[in-house]
Amino acid sequence: MCVQSDLLQKMQDTYRHKGLRKILAEELRQKGITDQRVLDAINTVPRHFFMDSGFINFAYKDSAFPIGAGQTISQPYTVAFQTQLLDIQPMEKVLEIGTGSGYQTAILLEMGAKVFTIERQKELYLKAKAQLEAIGYHPHFFYGDGYLGMPSYGSYSKIIITAGAPEIPQALVEQLQVGGKLIAPVGDTQKQVMTLVEKVSETETVITQHGNFIFVPLLKGTSSR
Ligand code: SAH
Repeated sequence: MCVQSDLLQKMQDTYRHKGLRKILAEELRQKGITDQRVLDAINTVPRHFFMDSGFINFAYKDSAFPIGAGQTISQPYTVAFQTQLLDIQPMEKVLEIGTGSGYQTAILLEMGAKVFTIERQKELYLKAKAQLEAIGYHPHFFYGDGYLGMPSYGSYSKIIITAGAPEIPQALVEQLQVGGKLIAPVGDTQKQVMTLVEKVSETETVITQHGNFIFVPLLKGTSSR
């Protein structure tokens, strides 16, 4: 009973939620997010739908929160920053590594991208799939190891890694189209540098760095829990 009423409360998007989202989008604009399409997506996607029940009241704080299985929903600023650097265009094929809560996935979909998203933790994969589908978002979901990408669906215009990678997985650079962009936090478990890889030809990339962040780690293999 309790779980059900929790879910009902969670699935409501009230004027209060909408107002808090508007304030959050304005906060992100003040922190340097300039792409209006990213801010519009932040203003549209109900982040509280993606939070664990204990944290719903904090959904519009610009912070990361636990989502179970030792993972976190990324801070809205980080989601907006990574998305802005990717310069997402409608109908583009985007590969996301680390579905987590599904919030970043919803932001990409809201911007018109065709999203392919991979999660290595079974529990989170099932939860995000159910949640996104319940509110009408339909990416292609995969339970698997994002280190390997998803080559069977061809190449991608953009790739986003939402966990801290010790290095850029070569398989992902191979699955990026020429002219495409990959964004990843690269570093050890303490600190990562936001790294943008632009594929300028079949054999060449241009790499730029965009400040320090802290993510949960990108791990190899899958977890059936
Ligand atoms: N974008 C998500 C971020 C979740 S945290 C959100 O805002 O909710 C990062 C996620 O990456 C975790 O769910 C973790 O399980 C997942 N992950 C880590 N290594 C992975 C890998 N090799 N393949 C796929 N997912 C991975």
